[in-house]
Amino acid sequence: MSKGVLIVISGPSGGGKGTVVRRVREMLPDIGFSVSATTRAPREGETDGSDYHFIGKDRFREMIENGEMLEYTVYCGNYYGTPRSEVEKVIGSGRDIILEIEVDGASQIKKKFPDAVTLMLIPPTLSELEKRLRGRGSETEDTVASRLSRAAEEIKLADIYDYVVVNECDDIDGSASVICDILTAEHHRSSRMKNEINNFTDNH
Ligand code: 5GP
Repeated sequence: MSKGVLIVISGPSGGGKGTVVRRVREMLPDIGFSVSATTRAPREGETDGSDYHFIGKDRFREMIENGEMLEYTVYCGNYYGTPRSEVEKVIGSGRDIILEIEVDGASQIKKKFPDAVTLMLIPPTLSELEKRLRGRGSETEDTVASRLSRAAEEIKLADIYDYVVVNECDDIDGSASVICDILTAEHHRSSRMKNEINNFTDNH
């Protein structure tokens, strides 16, 4: 078996990334998922420890100082970061792992893990994104405006990602299937098939 793939999925907040990633995890029950830490307040229906580790600013800063964050950023006034321990555990076990993080974090990860696969999930249009953000009902006008302007900035950086997937309206299964196909293809990249190639050359 080829070694595990670390896939980073970014995309504007409200673009349906969370829903698509959930579907990918249902399709690939063995895949690992990094639960991020954040200082933002939980939204209705979010659970501590499975959607995020919801922690205070002091604890977050302490984790940074202790080197417990693999990457972190400030996004619309709140800290978000990837705790190192969970990711290292999954990678060590040889399984694939998904990190659902924004662009600044994605570039920090790519520097630390050059083999990481980066994918940006974009909405079909900005007006569709605005509709989805408002439809969520949990954001204030200010938050919607700041998330929309951040979204436009993020999408401009799409070309530094390895893959771009357009999350068409109402086709969660379609987007999730494309991501599963990309993971399958990445497992067959020759750089990840060294063991298989060496076995063959060793025996012949
Ligand atoms: P939200 O508040 O909508 O859950 O997340 C806001 C943004 O932060 C999203 O783009 C999400 O992907 C990103 N994000 C979530 N967790 C992390 C993390 O651990 N690190 C970074 N850099 N971004 C994150």
